[in-house]
Amino acid sequence: MTDTAAEKAVENHAFEADVARLLHMMVHSVYSDRNVFLRELISNAADACEKLRYEAITNPSLSAGDGEGRITLTLDEDGKRLIIEDNGIGMSRAEMIEALGTIARSGTRAFMERIEAAKAEKSEQGAQLIGQFGVGFYSCFMVAEKVEVVSRRAGADEAWRWLSDGKGSYVIDAVDLADAQVRGTSITLHLMEDAGTYTSRWTVEKIVKDQSGHVPVPILLVEKPGAEPARLTDGSALWTRSKNEISAEEYTDFYRSLSGQYDDPALNVHFRAEGRHEYTTLAFVPGSQPFDMFDPDRKGRMKLYVKRVFITDDADLVPRYLRFVRGLVDTSDLPLNMSREMIQESPVLSAIRKGVTSRVLTAIEKLAANDADAFAKLWENFGPVLKEGIYEDFERRAQLLALSRFRSTSSGEGYRSLADYVRDAKEGQQAIYYLAGGNLEQLKNSPQLEGFRARGVEVLLLTDSIDSFWVMNAPEFEGKSFKSITQGAADLSQFSRPEGEEPAEKPQATAVIDDLIAFAKLQLADAVSDVRISDRLTESAVCLVAAEGGYDRQLEKILQGAGRIEGASRPVLEVNVDHGLVRAIAAKTDDQALREDAVLLLLDQARILDGDKPEDPRGFAERLQRVFERALK
Ligand code: ADP
Ligand code: MG
Repeated sequence: MTDTAAEKAVENHAFEADVARLLHMMVHSVYSDRNVFLRELISNAADACEKLRYEAITNPSLSAGDGEGRITLTLDEDGKRLIIEDNGIGMSRAEMIEALGTIARSGTRAFMERIEAAKAEKSEQGAQLIGQFGVGFYSCFMVAEKVEVVSRRAGADEAWRWLSDGKGSYVIDAVDLADAQVRGTSITLHLMEDAGTYTSRWTVEKIVKDQSGHVPVPILLVEKPGAEPARLTDGSALWTRSKNEISAEEYTDFYRSLSGQYDDPALNVHFRAEGRHEYTTLAFVPGSQPFDMFDPDRKGRMKLYVKRVFITDDADLVPRYLRFVRGLVDTSDLPLNMSREMIQESPVLSAIRKGVTSRVLTAIEKLAANDADAFAKLWENFGPVLKEGIYEDFERRAQLLALSRFRSTSSGEGYRSLADYVRDAKEGQQAIYYLAGGNLEQLKNSPQLEGFRARGVEVLLLTDSIDSFWVMNAPEFEGKSFKSITQGAADLSQFSRPEGEEPAEKPQATAVIDDLIAFAKLQLADAVSDVRISDRLTESAVCLVAAEGGYDRQLEKILQGAGRIEGASRPVLEVNVDHGLVRAIAAKTDDQALREDAVLLLLDQARILDGDKPEDPRGFAERLQRVFERALK
């Protein structure tokens, strides 16, 4: 046999293991809404047409003879088939094996886990996941018992067929050119017994209009094999139309087909910039959180078009802290035949980036000003990402700080802005106080808060890991700097307690207390850098704070976790000398053994209140036991 003859023979390939697993799940569990398969196949066909348009800029012969991209759906009720055909870029044999036999993306494992979690609820989430992870093609096995893909790469003089029942393997063989289209791909679905509805004109037309009405390539429908095609959509670009001609539903449909998400956008930003640079932007803030928002590899999902030709979705059109924004920019200011790399570096693009970023932020600010509830929801979804900008984008720091919302000791269930904070600050208050930690409930119960609460000084409760970073290099807000209440000495003496609540006497540093503190310093020298009298405690006996000039306690934990710093610095143990327990221990001047146990127990208690564990759990348990036993005797 010659090489080509060998290639032409029917070859059997096993699916990559992950694909097989994915297909199994897809068919057996994922969806309540099977219609999404059509959206996925149409979006692939449209991508293929857009890729061809782009490649044909430098190589016009590729689209010779049949220039306009189009997608044709053919219904075959008698044969129980649905055929989706495009005249786009097509696939070579190798591309078919790669694209339809493996999962090229790294997120697959995460996807599988998500989808297994989602199936319990049989939720819409499953459908959303498909689009987000780019496993769209395989969704056709939800409705088809057999799928046949015939494809001819633009410019190639060979065509290939891929055939599978989605049960572990597929075959590939060559197709006679006489039987193949000029170029592009046709996908024939042999529908399952219960999927006959996908040969009904009414059903298919409705699904297409609902899901894919704004795909920028026209979609035609052929009612039965051999019939005249009829246009379902005209493939005109929504963003080129004027704002007041576009309904809210049209925007939502467009957002859904663009993003692969099924929610309603929280915000849309549509504008045409004129003047020095001309471009149109249509951008959306999603109504829910994409699963991979914190994935460090996640790129922005903004597409770049030049004169309505799709160029790339890799142009970083918005900064990282807006990576949840979906949408596109279409400009006439870039030449079509510029390489993607050169486009990336073009000054025009940086001007566009600036413009788009400003408009998106302005729109978010407007929402904050006009609809607090809607903004609170947006903030819940994307606040943690937006706050990265306070750290990363020096120019917009003030703007982003003003936009930020916080939980605090005064926020109740709602949010507070820094403007709220400053407006309600105490007379003469220089700092904006905060407490950072992983968990809101735990923060609310922190002993470090007690003194601030008692004096009615508001403290921001910061629970996102990014918070510990931006507060370090930020900054000031309206002349006030940020200060961690777990760092250094509290300066609470400047704030008086409310009338009538003033404690009868000032904390008394009696001789026995001084003696206890000196003893504790010695006893705990390895674990803490200092032991001192606290003015931030009112109810608890002790707490830990960072030394002046040291890392905030929470930031230190994050940096340790990330391996960025080694070892822990020694914190300061603060003691509430008004506390009955502390006074009682101090009074036991003659009981050395008890004092040793008690001091170590106080330290562990402070650690536990911080959400940590005693350093030596066994020693802790033994000491606790001894003290208990004595008390019960
Ligand atoms: P995604 O579209 O996110 O890449 P899919 O599973 O939908 O993921 O498609 C996988 C790949 O298969 C595509 O990236 C593309 O390379 C190829 N493909 C699918 N359909 C077509 C088509 N109609 N024309 C050309 N290539 C296609
Ligand atoms: Mg796809």
